[in-house]
Amino acid sequence: MMQSINPATNELLAEFDTWDQATLDEMVTQAGYGFADWSKLTPLSDRIALLNRLGDVLLDDKEVLAELITLEMGKRYAEAVAEIEKCAWLCDYYAENAERFLADEMIETDASKSYVAYLPLGVVLGVMPWNFPFWQALRFAVPTVTAGNIGLLKHASNVPQCALAIEEVFRKAGYPDGVFTTLMIGSDKVESVIRHPAVKAVSLTGSEPAGRKVASVAGEELKKSVLELGGSDAFIVLDNADIQTAVENAVKGRFMNMGQSCIASKRFIVDAGIIDDFIERFKTAVESQFEAGDPMESDATLAPMARQDLLDELHQQVTKSVEMGAKIVTGGYQLDRPGCYYAPTILTDVTSNMPAFSEEFFGPVAIVLKATEPAHALGLANATDFGLGGSIWSNDSATAETMARGMESGATFVNSITFSDPRMPFGGIKHSGYGRELSGQGIREFTNIKSIWIK
Ligand code: NAP
Repeated sequence: MMQSINPATNELLAEFDTWDQATLDEMVTQAGYGFADWSKLTPLSDRIALLNRLGDVLLDDKEVLAELITLEMGKRYAEAVAEIEKCAWLCDYYAENAERFLADEMIETDASKSYVAYLPLGVVLGVMPWNFPFWQALRFAVPTVTAGNIGLLKHASNVPQCALAIEEVFRKAGYPDGVFTTLMIGSDKVESVIRHPAVKAVSLTGSEPAGRKVASVAGEELKKSVLELGGSDAFIVLDNADIQTAVENAVKGRFMNMGQSCIASKRFIVDAGIIDDFIERFKTAVESQFEAGDPMESDATLAPMARQDLLDELHQQVTKSVEMGAKIVTGGYQLDRPGCYYAPTILTDVTSNMPAFSEEFFGPVAIVLKATEPAHALGLANATDFGLGGSIWSNDSATAETMARGMESGATFVNSITFSDPRMPFGGIKHSGYGRELSGQGIREFTNIKSIWIK
């Protein structure tokens, strides 16, 4: 049974039966049968026309879809609308560029003709999280399906209505039945899908433990996997940065989506000369900007977290760090009202043995660390198992760019918070995963990069 619960009120919105093993196996087998038609009989130009329609359906239905997101996982309605609009942009982007990304690449060799072709693999499973329930799923599905693969979605169990709505958006756009299917299953059945002979590859966006499990099953089956896992992004502020701009972006980078973003700014590494000023301004901004309320209402600036168990886990990480000596500058408690509301929190005096230093804090808690010089800041930034994104704030762009190249991450932004853009590859290194989504690299991840050589 999957439950859809409104985290702003704890009200049960809907319940769904999950599929039994026989139903699941049959659906995956059918997906395999659909591959030949979709990849061979539906030319890329037709797949692109469908993609254009998919973007139109998303925009036509954006209010309804955004409301569903807000009701089911709690983000502010304005953020949910922006999420749907970004998905439509993703469709436009691949509609405009897929032909170029998937075109044969001629290569000069001793052959009369030799080239690289990007051919689809077959059925690809996407295991997706709830934090951007449309964006994450479409970031996987749009390029995968446009490249000629069949997409299966196993969405997070707390967003079943979004999961079904995504399938419906594909249907409304006119995609043939079976090209994109939502599987109504819990995580316990993911292994059987990966092992199914029809499934050729898997993409997971989620936590490190889920990534390890999925990658190990895919490894045993010798199937390709792409992993987009957690992060603990550094936000380095050098002494020559514009502090006010840095603070405004720190608030945005940490508290957008109630901090529940893999590429949220999580560890604020600030030069010793300006750290007191930074903390004071950060505290003032956080305490003045957030007002809890119904995330459907435009005056609410503090939305709930997505689930009570996630809030409890975050609070435990905060409590443990405080017991070990961290100081709470502001926040550190659940609000006394119905729903999963956590006070925006800033922690200082964090040392390397604390959860606040080494673990991902997936919610509205900022961790501030002191650096004595730029090299120390970069050392602290890299002293984590994660390697997803990061940002550097400085008016010396040459130094910042050198540091950006030295940061152990899949992306580093200078004087901007990290964000995903369909035109740029997205993904991590170290325990943040491997492989890339978005851009030309992303659409080629689930293709057979095939050499053709003709004498
Ligand atoms: P999660 O618990 O790992 O869940 C993500 C997905 O994996 C869900 O569909 C979940 O299914 C499934 N899953 C969980 N355990 C599994 C297992 N053992 N085997 C197979 N599937 C399993 O993560 P979350 O709490 O939803 O999301 C937060 C995490 O995702 C954070 O670490 C965040 O940083 C990361 N994230 C990364 C990116 C990125 O692009 N790098 C983007 C967003 C989020 P159930 O819901 O049924 O358990």
